[in-house]
Amino acid sequence: MTTNKTPITIAYGDGIGPSIMQATLDILEAAGAQIAPEPIEIGEKVYLSGQSNGIEASAWESLRRTKVFLKAPITTPQGGGYKSLNVSMRKALGLYANVRPCIAYAPFVRTKHPNMDLVIVRENEEDLYAGIEHRQTEEVYQCLKLITRPGCERIVRYAFEYAQQQNRQRVTCFIKDNIMKLTDGLFHQVFRDIAKEYPDIQHDSMIVDIGAARVADTPEAFDVIVMPNLYGDIISDVAAQIAGSVGMAGSANIGDHCAMFEAIHGSAPDLAGQNIANPSGLLHGAIQMLVHIGQSEVAEKIHHAWLATLEQGLHTADIYKEGQSKALLGTTEFAKAVISRLGQSPSQLNAPSYAGSKPLVLPAVAHKTPCDKELVGIDIFLQWQKGEAQTLGEELKTYGSDALDLKLITNRGVKVWPEGFPETYCVDHWRCRFMSPNMHLDFAEVLALQTRLHDAGFDVVKTENLYNFNGEPGYAAVHG
Ligand code: NAD
Repeated sequence: MTTNKTPITIAYGDGIGPSIMQATLDILEAAGAQIAPEPIEIGEKVYLSGQSNGIEASAWESLRRTKVFLKAPITTPQGGGYKSLNVSMRKALGLYANVRPCIAYAPFVRTKHPNMDLVIVRENEEDLYAGIEHRQTEEVYQCLKLITRPGCERIVRYAFEYAQQQNRQRVTCFIKDNIMKLTDGLFHQVFRDIAKEYPDIQHDSMIVDIGAARVADTPEAFDVIVMPNLYGDIISDVAAQIAGSVGMAGSANIGDHCAMFEAIHGSAPDLAGQNIANPSGLLHGAIQMLVHIGQSEVAEKIHHAWLATLEQGLHTADIYKEGQSKALLGTTEFAKAVISRLGQSPSQLNAPSYAGSKPLVLPAVAHKTPCDKELVGIDIFLQWQKGEAQTLGEELKTYGSDALDLKLITNRGVKVWPEGFPETYCVDHWRCRFMSPNMHLDFAEVLALQTRLHDAGFDVVKTENLYNFNGEPGYAAVHG
């Protein structure tokens, strides 16, 4: 039998997950959403059964086939050894864009920022979330921050395309390129370049610390904000909370082939089994999903009915306010209230229109033409505890050659040789920079230097090749 229903993969999750998922599915069905849900098992039970990533191997088959996932929150068991299911999902399915609208519903939901209406577009796959961490010495641990040109281009273009489609006026970029000149510097440069292709959309940039402070203080001054993964993770929770309740915001995780929709909050074990959680966050995820699968009319109908329910003072406990709300509803009753208002529109709150909304289709990111890449030196990282920087510098210098000369040593990024400060606190991890005097280096010289150091008893824990790209250094200058 053929059916017009779109298959979607769903997961009921843990804690409040099953009840908010049921409430959401009830509303979708009553509104006439043409979907065929396929449940998969993820979360705590799966983790505890021995799957370290929290998802059954068989569940991937459904996800690959339907390419659309509506996911309730899950509980990650305490203790080491469990990988984040969300991070695994985003990476495995290539979900590079995380889109989180954070909107105030004043005066019906209490907030200090009644005019707030912003969208955070967070890069979802890279940055410190690459999961590449190492312990290098007894005292030093490292987490690799990876920022790629294709990753920046995709997320920045997504933010501008989203702004254009949603009739938003401005895109702001948050970065920390005063400190991370290469990684965040690339994100910022790509932002400036792509912004030129959208002359009708205003753009500006802020260092993330002052940007975050302004979001917390005057969120109504922002429209769309695009940022790398870690900043987006933190700031989008702040934005959702100050809009009214963390229980109200939904999020879409978009890739070229698949998409995942969810609430931004977790499984709230403190509320589980009591029928008191707000299902609105997951419902917002589901509304974004309906638009994504081309059922914009149903999405709009549900969104309007939900706004009408809020306006009429029918509230769950997280947003209920004595004297202002009309009734305190449980999860199931709130879903019934929305269902009975399908067809109604809000009288005061802004009723969004999804007419003509389609999934954004971005052009494939073109790989850059190869640069002229020249090896010019090496940073050798040593574990060394035997004394002062001066001692290390004088000794290491003798292992240089005509092709590789010791230029400087840093400790935690601060120059300690030559001419370091005696006050600089040093740990057992030394970065020793050897450069080629003629800016051209054969890799065999690098290997020979490492062998000489190893034979002399030095503990080489890591190396980084230093390249020039089209004559420009591909490594950061040294502080101090
Ligand atoms: P949480 O988001 O579950 O809860 C934080 C606070 O917000 C709690 O006081 C909770 O009662 C409240 N809250 C959350 N959702 C609500 C809702 N729908 N209605 C009313 N109040 C709501 O964060 P947590 O307590 O730090 O984490 C609990 C578990 O969730 C942890 O195991 C964590 O790993 C997991 N988690 C999962 C996801 C996800 O699956 N996407 C996201 C975040 C946290």
